[in-house]
Amino acid sequence: MPSDDSDILFPFAPDSDDAQFAGEDDGELKPLLGDDYYMRAALRCAQQAADAGEVPVGAVAVKDGLIIARSWNQVELLKDATAHAELMLIASLPQVIGDWRLDGIDIYVTKEPCAMCAGAMVNSRIRRVVFGMRDPRCGAAGTALNVTGFPGMLHNVEVTAGLMEEECKEMFQAFFRTVRANARKKKS
Ligand SMILES: [Zn+2]
Repeated sequence: MPSDDSDILFPFAPDSDDAQFAGEDDGELKPLLGDDYYMRAALRCAQQAADAGEVPVGAVAVKDGLIIARSWNQVELLKDATAHAELMLIASLPQVIGDWRLDGIDIYVTKEPCAMCAGAMVNSRIRRVVFGMRDPRCGAAGTALNVTGFPGMLHNVEVTAGLMEEECKEMFQAFFRTVRANARKKKS
C-alpha cells in the first residue's frame, strides 16, 4: 500500500479541489466526488507502477464513495503474469470487507481490463468498472471482447468506458517512449 492514505482518511476533505458538496436542506453533507476524482487516484497508482518500471496500470476500489483499496501492476516485481492491477485489487478486497462477494463495489482502472481481470470482476460481482484507455487488442470490457456484459453470465458488470482516456493513454505512451529510448541508449 502507498504511504499516502489521504484519500482514505479524508475522502471529503473540503480543501480538496475535487471535493464538492451539495447544500441539501436535510443538513446532511452529501459527497459528490465524481468519477474523475477516483480516476485521478487510479492514475496516481499507475504512476507508482511506472516509477517501479512496470507497465503503468493503476486501479482503485470504491464503496459508498470511499476508496477502500488501491493497486497497480506488479507483473515484473512478482514475476507473475497474473499480477495485474485489477486482479490484485480484487484479491485484496475480501480482507477489507470480509466477503468475496464484492457487491456495491466499483473499480476505477486506467486501462481497459483484459479477459482475466474482466472475468474476475464478473465472478466477484463488481458493480461497475470505469476505465480510461480502451484496448483494441485485448480489452475485455466491450472493446475487443465483452466479458463484462456477456449474455448468460451469472453477473454483468456495468461499464463506463474511456474516462479521462487521454491522460491514461499519455501515461502509457510516455512509459513506452522511455523504455524505447533506454533500449536505444543501451545499443549505442
Ligand atoms: Zn488484466
